[in-house]
Amino acid sequence: MKLDTRIVRAGITPDPTTGSILPPIYETATFVLEKVGKDKGFDYTRSSNPTRQVLEENLAAIEGAQYGVCFASGMASVDSVMKLLSAGDHVVCSDDVYGGVSRHFNRVLARYQLSFSFVDSSDAAAVRAAIKPETRMLWIETPTNPLLKVTDMEAMAEIARENDILLGVDSTFATPVFLRPLEFGADIVVHSTTKYLSGHNQIIGGCVLTNREDIFQEMKFIQKTIGAVPSPMDCWLVLLGLKTLHLRMARHEESGMKVAQYLEAHDKIVKVRYPGLPSHPQHNIAAAQMDGFSGMISFELKGGISAGKTIMNSVKLCALAESLGAVETMITHPATMTHVDVPEEERRARGLTDGLVRISVGIEDSEDILNDLDQALALV
Ligand SMILES: *Cc1c(COP(=O)(O)O)cnc(C)c1O
Repeated sequence: MKLDTRIVRAGITPDPTTGSILPPIYETATFVLEKVGKDKGFDYTRSSNPTRQVLEENLAAIEGAQYGVCFASGMASVDSVMKLLSAGDHVVCSDDVYGGVSRHFNRVLARYQLSFSFVDSSDAAAVRAAIKPETRMLWIETPTNPLLKVTDMEAMAEIARENDILLGVDSTFATPVFLRPLEFGADIVVHSTTKYLSGHNQIIGGCVLTNREDIFQEMKFIQKTIGAVPSPMDCWLVLLGLKTLHLRMARHEESGMKVAQYLEAHDKIVKVRYPGLPSHPQHNIAAAQMDGFSGMISFELKGGISAGKTIMNSVKLCALAESLGAVETMITHPATMTHVDVPEEERRARGLTDGLVRISVGIEDSEDILNDLDQALALV
């Protein structure tokens, strides 16, 4: 089956008892056994649940993976992958990662004798140079949040192979519609399903996808042992959102390109970062490895914090919100919102300047989005 068909249909069969075209929501904690040792494939929802299983199979098929395991959030998915490691292990991580991920690595996992080196993974030589004898994993985000840096998947897979270490990719920004890291040799793909995959700001969720049986078994073990599982209702809501993923992504990208081009021509903006623009430093890599460029854009305003605050407080249609990847256009100011926990010095070193604004272009009429940005920029 082709991708668009898998998105709508994979893993979903009519309910055998009623013919319902949508899978039932099995909102139950436990399953009754026929007799000792004989169940119908389910015993307790922390271990597995029929609605969650449909979602796991659907997500795996969309990514082109053999196996899928769902978690209660994107962060729980990242945390579960890190539980493949042991005390003393080292991870080389993209420097411009999601704020929650760097907080988790630096402030929680560092207390468990795991160590992390944050490097600019758009520079393969820097990644190679950061590998130590105790390195066990490369953790890559591409495109990154919020600077939209793009990492060469082929180069990362080569480094991982040469050093016999795991390659994990947080592919939340790209979605499987535009990038499938497993095809390049990644071992693990993680998504925050909260974002594009569910697409309607309706749930918090995450998943881990892999072709490796050993990793799948370990993830299932961690899922049932730690119990950071999504509710059956939330799984069903993700399934519903997923059905239009390909259509939504096409619109996100089409409008994303229009907004990026508008912003790049605006005289109050110093710089626009969008992998689809030829001015993007890794545009060629993005164009070669991705089937599209999504709807995430960041741009640098002249006038720092006060300009950032003005535009945040002046937009009317764009929602002032931390999240991304949903049907509504959302705008955020990393310095005062998503990345407020990153120490100021580190923020500056990473290029998270005071005038940086991130926009998640939604699927409203693009003229309305452009008009809203135009009136807000006029007030800066
Ligand atoms: C949102 C996000 C996460 C965390 O996901 P939650 O569902 O909010 O826990 C991780 N990585 C990226 C790139 C994200 O955008």
